[in-house]
Amino acid sequence: MGDAQRPDGFRTKQVHAGVKADPETGAILTPIHQSTTFVQPSVNEYMKTGYTYSRSGNPTVRALENKLTALENGVDSAAFASGMAAINALFMTFLGAGTHVIISEVAYGGTYRLSELVYTRFGVEVTFANTSDVSSVAKSIRENTALILTETPANPTLKITDIAAISEVATNAGIPHAVDNTFLTPYYQQVFDLGADLSIHSTTKYLDGHNATVGGALVMAREEHIEPIRFIQNATGTIMSPMVAWLTLQGTKTLSERMDRQSTNAMEVARFLEDHPAVEHVVYPGLKSFPQHDLASRQASGYGAMIWFELNEGAEKGKTAMSALQVWTLAENLGSVESLATHPATMTHAAVPAEERSRLGITDGLVRLSVGLEDTEDLIADLDQALSLD
Ligand SMILES: *Cc1c(COP(=O)(O)O)cnc(C)c1O
Repeated sequence: MGDAQRPDGFRTKQVHAGVKADPETGAILTPIHQSTTFVQPSVNEYMKTGYTYSRSGNPTVRALENKLTALENGVDSAAFASGMAAINALFMTFLGAGTHVIISEVAYGGTYRLSELVYTRFGVEVTFANTSDVSSVAKSIRENTALILTETPANPTLKITDIAAISEVATNAGIPHAVDNTFLTPYYQQVFDLGADLSIHSTTKYLDGHNATVGGALVMAREEHIEPIRFIQNATGTIMSPMVAWLTLQGTKTLSERMDRQSTNAMEVARFLEDHPAVEHVVYPGLKSFPQHDLASRQASGYGAMIWFELNEGAEKGKTAMSALQVWTLAENLGSVESLATHPATMTHAAVPAEERSRLGITDGLVRLSVGLEDTEDLIADLDQALSLD
């Protein structure tokens, strides 16, 4: 796992793709084109530069979109104000009244909220399926199914969906398959090689990586999706700002180095937790004990830096331990250089009804860790002191 399996040229692309020195000044970084409108040379040469008005396109945002396209080996990308705005644009492009969407039953809480609490109001039928079970997805397909959205590894339980198997089912039925690739990013998981049609990112997470921005992107593998998605991006106006695009561009340039280091830290932390007497169980795709360890190893070149665990003394003890952490920070978000601990039941997944949460394994005792870039020994010592408290 790790470095050796990277497709050639990823590190060069993450530094150079989509960006070039400013032709006017030589500035090495793409300028922040903080401008609403773009001057047209003449009525007859309207659109000569490709830019008219920043909702319809902005050169700094375009630079990020081009970089993400290169990293995913896609044909185009569209950046948005947040990961949720990217998922909303996906839904707006492919769904409408009377259509049906199949979504991983374990997914980011906001994906549940948007589909179940918003899109059903507009006559969209939503099925949450166990996408780790290919036959359950195949059985959920209806005449009017217009989209399959999977998330893998899923937030927060890290359940894995077999991207190639679901893509095959989707392709045979003529339905586009979108994968939320936020947790592993194209550095570890090349979803288009596995047959997916669209890749979704909350750029807020690993792509930015510095807790500086909220943003999202939709990367496309098919030419025929470019025009309809660009149309929705312009029509709804849920665009990424030039400043956010610029910060995300800088973060993305070190993606591989951060992910490798954070994943190495995560493996160490997971092993520590696995051996700790206060821990009931720990879940990390890199552990041999992970139920889908083989699939995780087969379809990605790294295991990522997300872990979850439960304590044998239960939820209350877990909350006490989380509050006692000092190097780890108690906060929502993930993928940043700072190590974060999250309590999904009250934080990221509070939108999912309690009954549904417990059916999906998002228990009140589940502690989610996003492992950052700090020294491994400091992260482990801090967990050790917090878990040893009475
Ligand atoms: C955070 C997250 C989202 C939503 O992204 P925002 O940028 O917070 O809107 C979507 N999918 C996954 C897997 C996430 O972790």
